[in-house]
Amino acid sequence: MRAVSPGRVGARLDPGRAAAALLLVALAVFPLLARGDTYHQNVLFSAFLLAVEALGWNIVSGFAGYVSLGQSAFLGVGAYTAGLLAIHLGVSPLLLAPLGGVAAALLALVVGSVVMRARGHAFVIITIALVLILQVTGLNLTSITGGSNGVTLPIPGWDPALGNLPFYYAMFALMVLSLGLCAWVRRTKFGTGLLAIRADENKAAAIGIRTNVYKTLAFIASGALVGVAGGVYAYFLTFIDPRGMFDILVSVSILLAAMIGGRGTVWGPLIGAFIVQILTEATNVWANGSQARLILFGGLLMATVLFVPQGLLPAAARLLERRRTRGRAVEATSHAVVTRPIEVSRIVRTIDTDDGEDLLVGKGLTKRFGRLVAVDRCDVTVRQGTITGLIGPNGSGKTTLFNLLTGMLVADEGTVHLAGTRIDGLPPWRRAHLGLGRTWQTTRLFDDMTVLDNVVAPLSRFRWRTLAASAVAGHEAERARELLAFVGMADLAGVRAGHLSFGQRKLVELAQVLMTQPRLILLDEPAGGVNPALVERIAGLVRSLNERGVTFLIVEHNMPLVLELCDPVVVLASGRTIAAGTPETIQRDPVVLDAYLGEDPSTMHDEAPV
Ligand code: ADP
Ligand code: MG
Repeated sequence: MRAVSPGRVGARLDPGRAAAALLLVALAVFPLLARGDTYHQNVLFSAFLLAVEALGWNIVSGFAGYVSLGQSAFLGVGAYTAGLLAIHLGVSPLLLAPLGGVAAALLALVVGSVVMRARGHAFVIITIALVLILQVTGLNLTSITGGSNGVTLPIPGWDPALGNLPFYYAMFALMVLSLGLCAWVRRTKFGTGLLAIRADENKAAAIGIRTNVYKTLAFIASGALVGVAGGVYAYFLTFIDPRGMFDILVSVSILLAAMIGGRGTVWGPLIGAFIVQILTEATNVWANGSQARLILFGGLLMATVLFVPQGLLPAAARLLERRRTRGRAVEATSHAVVTRPIEVSRIVRTIDTDDGEDLLVGKGLTKRFGRLVAVDRCDVTVRQGTITGLIGPNGSGKTTLFNLLTGMLVADEGTVHLAGTRIDGLPPWRRAHLGLGRTWQTTRLFDDMTVLDNVVAPLSRFRWRTLAASAVAGHEAERARELLAFVGMADLAGVRAGHLSFGQRKLVELAQVLMTQPRLILLDEPAGGVNPALVERIAGLVRSLNERGVTFLIVEHNMPLVLELCDPVVVLASGRTIAAGTPETIQRDPVVLDAYLGEDPSTMHDEAPV
């Protein structure tokens, strides 16, 4: 046997991981060491249950940001499914508990595919309604659920000497499974997609993430293990009733546990569950019962929101990070772009173009905001291989037109075709998959993710197995690094996007959109608010991409840049196309000059972005 040098072992031992492993081992052996201590076993059992629930909640509400107060619905459905089947089949509910998970997953699928369309407060309220509806239904379906009298389940059939040990280990195993699920989701493309949805759902859709599938899957994942836990819990209680099972207060304690520990982290919900469960137990022992518990929950929730809104774990992590990087964060915010761009041929395959054919055609596009007509029967055509400019006074509808073309907004009238395929009516992610990319006037990056994570997040098509793929690995990660090198941002790959300067963000967003391998890129004011050196750099990138066959439609106020880069130029005023032609003809067109209120358009550059 070869001896391992102690130094190497020490170097690989991460203190956080070691503590976590130690905790799990201690919990696994506890009942063996403290045999017969049923009280503490039962307290831990309840903590495990809350941890399973909070970890499940974490997937849909922590990662994807859709706050659910309906998690007790999954617990109840799991409990009733396993419990009632056990009575009718005469099998132990412990063996039927997985069916509780299946029932909860089905409920999540049915409810989720409808409800996940609602965002923000609407979603929260609908999930509360779900619990209340199930409770009322349970109370009224007396023949099945026993109504308010509940249902009594058979006493466990195992050797009484075992006590509650089988329950303890079943719930412990579920907790470890939930923890593993959270950790796994976090590492996959699925998890990155969920984080992107939480940060900016429209942006996520625009870079090709099929948001509706992601959200529904997250809801299913959040409910399934809770459903299994419900089956185990039912047998543990040997009595289930609709009020106890579909209890909104349980949903609140789940949310509380995850919030305290740190939603969106892997270990946070578990830590929070233990804190909440132990405090609940303490109030049960020292104060009497449910009134004190309500005050405790309310107080804890308030304290969390006020003092550690991110939760304990992220707060601690941030404190450590600040200590480690003190004084060093500045380099990331410097305006200098660090590296020289690499050759474009390395990152964009040449697109076979039939130059001059119509690539994007918008016809009769109209968008009204109340009585304001932002885009008014607008026609726009972008021919393949061109760098088409789109100019017009502020408020003339340029950004709104971009939103109609990319699917961020639905047009009231009009059609959009991309390479002959009709795309109005398609969701943004479908349009991205067809080769339509865009950037934003004020960049929209996922600020909490690193630059590299931002660039690997886009997907150029949807495949089920991609969901389970590693988020940052393989040739995609390599391509992302090359794209970052191409825009000159390779050195900042590991920096959090929120730390970048405005100009650096523009470059990263360009690398991000290139990841979907677009045929046509819409750039919304790429030079707005950017220093002159960087403007040159961006213009150079656009030109070299264009030489490789990428077509551009560019909104820009910097007239010298437009005149130098774009041909043809389309002019928008009050939502309508008033002129289109070569830069020279546009410059002299009296209609165009008139639209700018007699101003010389070349004086318009460096206008503040709106
Ligand atoms: P531009 O990009 O050319 O400056 P926009 O497309 O941003 O112009 O805006 C066109 C008009 O539509 C403006 O008058 C603006 O105030 C209005 N507008 C844009 N978005 C919205 C919205 N979401 N709700 C209401 N009005 C809007
Ligand atoms: Mg605009």
